[in-house]
Amino acid sequence: MGATDPTLSGLTIAEASRRLREGSMKAVDLTQSCINRIEAVDAQLNAVICKTFDRALDQAKKIDASPATTRAPLAGIPYLTKDIFCEEGVPSTAASNVLRGGLHGKDYIPPFDSTTTRKLKEAGAISLGHSNTDEFVMGSSTESSCYGTSKNPWDTTRVPGGSSGGSAAAVAADESIFATGTDTGGSIRQPAALTGTTGLKVTYGRVSRYGVIAMTSSLDTIGPICKTAEDCAIVLEAIAGRDPLDATTPDVAVPSYSGLLEGSMKGMKIGLPREYMADGLHPEVEAAVKAAVKAYEDMGATIVDVSLPHTKYGVATYYVLCPCEVSSNLARFDGVRYGSTSSPHVSQEQSLVEYYERVRSGGFGAEVKRRIMIGTHALSAGYYEAYYRQAQKIRTLVLKDFTEAFQKVDLLLTPTTPNPAFTIGSKTSDPVTMYMEDVCTIPASLAGVPALSLPCGFSKDGLPIGLQIIGPAFEEAKVLMAGHQYQKITDWHTKKPTL
Ligand code: GLN
Repeated sequence: MGATDPTLSGLTIAEASRRLREGSMKAVDLTQSCINRIEAVDAQLNAVICKTFDRALDQAKKIDASPATTRAPLAGIPYLTKDIFCEEGVPSTAASNVLRGGLHGKDYIPPFDSTTTRKLKEAGAISLGHSNTDEFVMGSSTESSCYGTSKNPWDTTRVPGGSSGGSAAAVAADESIFATGTDTGGSIRQPAALTGTTGLKVTYGRVSRYGVIAMTSSLDTIGPICKTAEDCAIVLEAIAGRDPLDATTPDVAVPSYSGLLEGSMKGMKIGLPREYMADGLHPEVEAAVKAAVKAYEDMGATIVDVSLPHTKYGVATYYVLCPCEVSSNLARFDGVRYGSTSSPHVSQEQSLVEYYERVRSGGFGAEVKRRIMIGTHALSAGYYEAYYRQAQKIRTLVLKDFTEAFQKVDLLLTPTTPNPAFTIGSKTSDPVTMYMEDVCTIPASLAGVPALSLPCGFSKDGLPIGLQIIGPAFEEAKVLMAGHQYQKITDWHTKKPTL
């Protein structure tokens, strides 16, 4: 296998799929190329925390044995699974010690697949293993992972963003053709922006969350991190749709996203929300986004100034709602239902409560504990009205901002993040500065609308900058089309880090 072409792992899904279907490349060679790349560079990145290479190669051999021309677009395409998805027979730990090496030193191994994992498997995609994430997807840097932080392939002293930082770093470094992610307040878009990859946050409910460990159930979404908008369309087509196992997935038809990419920007109205180009935006990010806006104008779009006046409340609202739901969702990790301690001896406790205390205080990291405590406080009698109910009201106002804007324009363009990738350790002592990283991504999450992040330039230090395209609910096709059209006239997404 040493002779495998090392450039194969750098292919897009579209190109790899074409080669697989015309029979000019084998799934085994493509898979081996990704494995070789992981073995060569992941010691520098720490993006891949669980490797299922034998299983992947077996699956690739089976695909190669099937007739090439009849294969589905994802058949034989290797990918990484964010460690928050349950994958049957594979340790799925949410990068938390509470699920890692728990009872008698064993990881949590789910007896079932998440719906996304199952659909990808049915489509013939090949999971190479699991990618790193912030613990229980809480964070913007992967620094809260119990496996240690992932590194940004463009500069390994910097974070790759989070929480889907392992997925984004792996795709940026060509360790994988694509990866799955989850986005609650920005966890697909922000790492995509910081690593020069393309990531899609879908409309709330567009993709089933069944089998994905919940953080903030009223905001969590599932989506792909890829090398291009076209690839995001191909993955979305395979994973979107109604799922009887997730009551939040409506019965909205799944269009052929990849067949709708060749639209035109002519006559489209694009809104520039003035609140996003405000103080605090890094000048190089501002310049790159302005250049992207000009590119859309050149493609025939009309640029319209719009206002989303409640943007300034987004982060505060999110950091009430999220901890409240965290405090409830994470109650199940008590050592009895899920999770455990590395000690097999439970008899030392005097009571069940003492046992819960030992499991939870030993298993959860600092950020998770912080959110459980804040959420428990905010939901308690006397505070519920002051915090939770107020936050819900503001969420409605944020949604109203978007609804009104989309009566005037087709899409919105904004930066994805206020800054390029920051240095590892620079924000860990002050959680609020970390929370502010999501200032541009949280509003679309609160409104439940789809948004794509794609590369639109580099800082003078050589760090990628992300552009965010936001669309109305269930208009992923329009968002992806606009992203694809931009990628046809620019080459930011084709740049590769040197490792
Ligand atoms: N960074 C945000 C947080 O810490 C968003 C995380 C996410 O989208 N999963 O909660």
